[in-house]
Amino acid sequence: MSWETVIGLEVHVQINSKTKAFCGCSTTFGADPNTQTCPVCLGMPGQLPVLNTEAARKSALTGLAINGQINLESKFDRKNYFYPDLPKGYQITQFPVPIVEFGHLDIPVPDGIKRIGITRIHMEEDAGKSMHEGLDGVSHIDLNRSGVPLMEIVSEPDMRCADEAVAYLKQLHQLVRFLNVSGADMEKGQFRCDANVSVRRFGEPLGTRAELKNLNSFRFIKQAIEYEVARQIELIEDGGEVVQETRLYDSVKGESRSMRSKEEAHDYRYFPEPDLPPLRISQQELDAIRAGMPELPGALRARFETEFGLSSYDADVLTQTRELAVWYESLVAAHPADPKRCANWMANELLGRLKESGLNISSSPVSALRLAGLLDRIADNTISGKIAKDVLDAMMASGDHADAIIESKGLKQVSDSGAIDDMIVKVMADNPQQLEQFRAGKDKLMGFFVGQVMKASKGQANPAMVNQRLNKLLKG
Ligand code: ADP
Ligand code: MG
Ligand code: ZN
Repeated sequence: MSWETVIGLEVHVQINSKTKAFCGCSTTFGADPNTQTCPVCLGMPGQLPVLNTEAARKSALTGLAINGQINLESKFDRKNYFYPDLPKGYQITQFPVPIVEFGHLDIPVPDGIKRIGITRIHMEEDAGKSMHEGLDGVSHIDLNRSGVPLMEIVSEPDMRCADEAVAYLKQLHQLVRFLNVSGADMEKGQFRCDANVSVRRFGEPLGTRAELKNLNSFRFIKQAIEYEVARQIELIEDGGEVVQETRLYDSVKGESRSMRSKEEAHDYRYFPEPDLPPLRISQQELDAIRAGMPELPGALRARFETEFGLSSYDADVLTQTRELAVWYESLVAAHPADPKRCANWMANELLGRLKESGLNISSSPVSALRLAGLLDRIADNTISGKIAKDVLDAMMASGDHADAIIESKGLKQVSDSGAIDDMIVKVMADNPQQLEQFRAGKDKLMGFFVGQVMKASKGQANPAMVNQRLNKLLKG
């Protein structure tokens, strides 16, 4: 009997904004506990929330980017529950009328593209943070995060395996970063995912789902879903039943445990937020938001392929983030003769070295202009590609110009035929046996001689010229 997996995802995205959703407090990460709070986000009685319009604008922009319907009038609601990190006793969110509905995201799957429905995006505020570890039996509460603006992006149950779920999340992660609506740093909790997972026999209606919480890396999400699918199948095949529950994934043990079942689930008693007017966006404002939409990853990738002739692989690597794409375009602007060479050197050589040193493109010690300077020296045959790799290593270490390094280390390619001839003559004299065999017809030895001359020149001889001169001199 074969089973089908069904997955729907709820993603909490922290909207990047200097201030909180309903007050003027700072959202800066890592400040001392409870230093970024005020009567509003502390939940003092009688305080009135005021909507952060920047957060609303960014939610609408995200809605447009997923081809969603933007509700020109949406409403805020209170979701009531008690928890120590929620001083008001309710969270302001949007329930029956969210800002965005009916969107979708196209994700890459092994046999092409798959469309995943996005049910809704609603705005809400974050709760504070409880801290229990290392506190000797007491808990502390930090309310700096209380009231930070979030978007919750809820998908349809359209994904059919863990890999599709991860592909969707990566696509969404890239999108919100491109739109500059969120830093989406998973380690800082700016992009948090809950996965709803069920299984069914093919053709049957949807099975009962479990909701997995606390999934804070793409790797754990895949592991947690696969563990959950196996657990549910085994349970059903053993004659049991899946119960609707919330489960917490433990990435250390690689397993999940029940947090609460449906019976214990919260009855949130949603009701309209009386302190906030409906969120209204005029058609004119919406048109302006649409007009400010940046080029999205898919369009950018396609443009890199057609405009610069890049392989789809290189185009994909160089459009992973907006910073990378911008950097690549400034590299091409500075070395316009060969966009493919630019892509090669950036994607393979520079990014590889940055990764090894734990850096990224924004902290690169080599600027686009400097890398272009190095590529210019390959293009005009001052150095070979091989020597250029050593020069790049030196540039990474010192931040110097390629020219300065080539000059000070004496790395200029030897394109002087006299000097190359001298080396060839010496190599021939040192290898009389090979020379004799070559002249007797063993053409394969050409490679040996090229290698010897390149070695004698410490890699600095112009390879094309070495070939040309060897062809002449070896034949005697
Ligand atoms: P809640 O807010 O109580 O978690 P929702 O109806 O909003 O409930 O659903 C949350 C998520 O669960 C959505 O992403 C939806 O696609 C997904 N989902 C709903 N039913 C199933 C199911 N049977 N299997 C897997 N996912 C499901
Ligand atoms: Mg849920
Ligand atoms: Zn505040």
